Amino acid sequence: ATGKNIRTYNDGAWHDGDVPIMKAADHAMWLGSNVFDGARYAYGLTPDLDKHCVRVNASARALMLTPAVSAEDMVEIVQEGLKAYNPDQAVYIRPMYWGIESGYSAIVPAEDAEVGFAICLEEVPMAGPDVSTTLTRTRFRRPVLEHSVVNAKAACLYPNNARMLAEAKAKGFGNALVADALGNVAETATSNAFAVKDGEVFTPVPNGTFLAGITRARHIENLRADGMVVHETTMSFDDFHDADEVFLTGNVHKITPVTAFDDTQYQIGPVTRRARELYWDWAKSE
Ligand code: PMP
Repeated sequence: ATGKNIRTYNDGAWHDGDVPIMKAADHAMWLGSNVFDGARYAYGLTPDLDKHCVRVNASARALMLTPAVSAEDMVEIVQEGLKAYNPDQAVYIRPMYWGIESGYSAIVPAEDAEVGFAICLEEVPMAGPDVSTTLTRTRFRRPVLEHSVVNAKAACLYPNNARMLAEAKAKGFGNALVADALGNVAETATSNAFAVKDGEVFTPVPNGTFLAGITRARHIENLRADGMVVHETTMSFDDFHDADEVFLTGNVHKITPVTAFDDTQYQIGPVTRRARELYWDWAKSE
């Protein structure tokens, strides 16, 4: 990633094109203090950009880093960077913080430790309504808060998700449906999961072990406003096998229909289609 795709913030100044190089001595590289968020620009819209900016600052604080930029300023900086694109393009917006040098053996970042911040803008096409995926159950699990920083969108959580995804791909599936520590369904390696049964919508209730996504919350709100019943509840893998429709939500593609979960097949159904329509109708009305 080079040139106009990058806006960096270092030492109080924004500048283009010059990616700050993480040094071997940096806290982040050595001790893993990296957080990020992902938002999207598509059809000329940036749905819930403010929420993604608020969340990346909360993620930084969860890793004991002091956020360098207010969420309000971050929104403005992103909007400035997006001027290089046009509404026919879709852009992945990734704000990131990382801990810089904080001295030998400083496992805990100092309160005044320098923090790196960058926003990467990268063109990534938005999948259309016919792009679906398939799921397999993974043997890996989501950690609990006592095991890892599941209260942050932290890079250090993603090697676990990468091995789930690699395992799923090796078996010929698109993504992995993962359980929490108790064995209930949590999410996938990259998104939140929904099941539709007899016209009602079900999704795992946030229990602190998985990322209760911003896109997830938006879909729940839209579906309820449209008169649908949405249950946030404890869910088993069988609940997904028994479903009439399954779909995934996340910032990258907003909603992705699922056509198979291991040996169970699904059609792309009316609730999934309606949720997509409601999402973009809401985004346009903002
Ligand atoms: N779960 C995981 C593990 C993710 O990486 C993502 C993508 N950020 C999501 C869920 C969906 O979250 P959001 O809707 O906030 O993008």
